[in-house]
Amino acid sequence: MLLSEYDKITANALNEELARQQEGLEMIPSENFVSPAVLEALGSIATNKYSEGYPGMRYYGGCEIIDRIENLARDRAKELFGVDHVNVQAASGCAANIAVMFALLEPGDTLMGMNLFYGGHMTHGLKVNFSGRYYNSVQYTSTKDGLLDFQQMADLAEEHKPKLIIVGATAYPRIIDWQKAREVADSVGAFLLADTSHISGLIVSGDHPSPVGIADVITTTTHKTLRGPRGAMIMANGNPSRPLKPAKVLKENIPTLVDRAIIPGIQGGPHNHQTAAIAVALKEALEPGFKEYGHQIVLNAKALATELTGMGYDLVTGGTDNHLMVVDLTNKNTSGKQGEWALERAGITVNKNTVPFEPRTPYDPSGIRLGTPALTTRGMKEEEMKQIGAWINEAIKAQDNDEALEAIRKEVKLLTDRFPLYPGLKY
Ligand SMILES: *Cc1c(COP(=O)(O)O)cnc(C)c1O
Repeated sequence: MLLSEYDKITANALNEELARQQEGLEMIPSENFVSPAVLEALGSIATNKYSEGYPGMRYYGGCEIIDRIENLARDRAKELFGVDHVNVQAASGCAANIAVMFALLEPGDTLMGMNLFYGGHMTHGLKVNFSGRYYNSVQYTSTKDGLLDFQQMADLAEEHKPKLIIVGATAYPRIIDWQKAREVADSVGAFLLADTSHISGLIVSGDHPSPVGIADVITTTTHKTLRGPRGAMIMANGNPSRPLKPAKVLKENIPTLVDRAIIPGIQGGPHNHQTAAIAVALKEALEPGFKEYGHQIVLNAKALATELTGMGYDLVTGGTDNHLMVVDLTNKNTSGKQGEWALERAGITVNKNTVPFEPRTPYDPSGIRLGTPALTTRGMKEEEMKQIGAWINEAIKAQDNDEALEAIRKEVKLLTDRFPLYPGLKY
């Protein structure tokens, strides 16, 4: 029985969500729109199969075809990123990071990562997260200007001797210098984990340098700029000067430890429908058009940043080199929470975000975070970014003036009507 016949409540909710996605401007930088092909693979019968283990070494029968699908995803990822080893089974980015910690650390070991409130991620050692609770977590912040502070990282590393250093961010608008992070890690003999969750699509397009050959392990979500289904990958590759099995610290090589950390360490059966969809998304990312997509994401972000700074908005670090920007709304007499709310009423979805050295609270911070990956997928370019910048300004100024916000929402709808999402789709 079709969903629309069997469960109208769920079908209607999905139709409403589809309309929300179609009619709004999705500017949360960690979101994107997958292609119909990815969606089809994700909704496929691969979800019916149990296949604990890895291709060729499963704990269940009947896995030959699933093996083919998982190998396809792994081979495409190896080609795309130029790595020797890929694990595509982590259910999401958090699980991928937890698996790396499980692989390389013992409980109580010291790890160092960027504080969430300066742009890091909760799995980088936030006290209330697994990573901050089961390990001794040291947190670095940023310079006054919001830039990665390698001097502070080096000083903290020297003082605390972390076994693992995590570099990567959820709200960092600039290029990450992996080599500098490597130098800090080497100064204390630490492993370096590059968490490229937000930027892996830009690494593919060449708009952000790759940590391959520099970091010991690389994680990424598959659903952000990479534009695949919700999921994650853990990648590793050897380097003549940096073997995957540093004899002094490891009994096994990193790929073996990572695979074992996923199962039996933290997960059971892989989500095979997700793996199939990752394989499809990676085929798309290998197409020349994906490079154009990545370039356009950055062009759009820069256009929006220019527009906003031109209207007096205060951007953390003064602008952007990648797909996102963090706007400090203090000088506009509003907060991140209020800004998020007003923009949502105007049909523009963003999220409130702390700014470096946040004077307010994480629940009502000073900033908002804006990104261009999803709008770029819809085909929008610099011209639309200028218009959207003007609407953002109007909505922020309107504060809680419902009429003004509703008027912007109508204009937003006219724009989004010109960039259809999933034409013909209905649940
Ligand atoms: C999104 C993100 C994650 C977590 O991914 P989930 O799929 O939400 O678990 C981890 N690290 C970074 C840097 C991220 O941006």
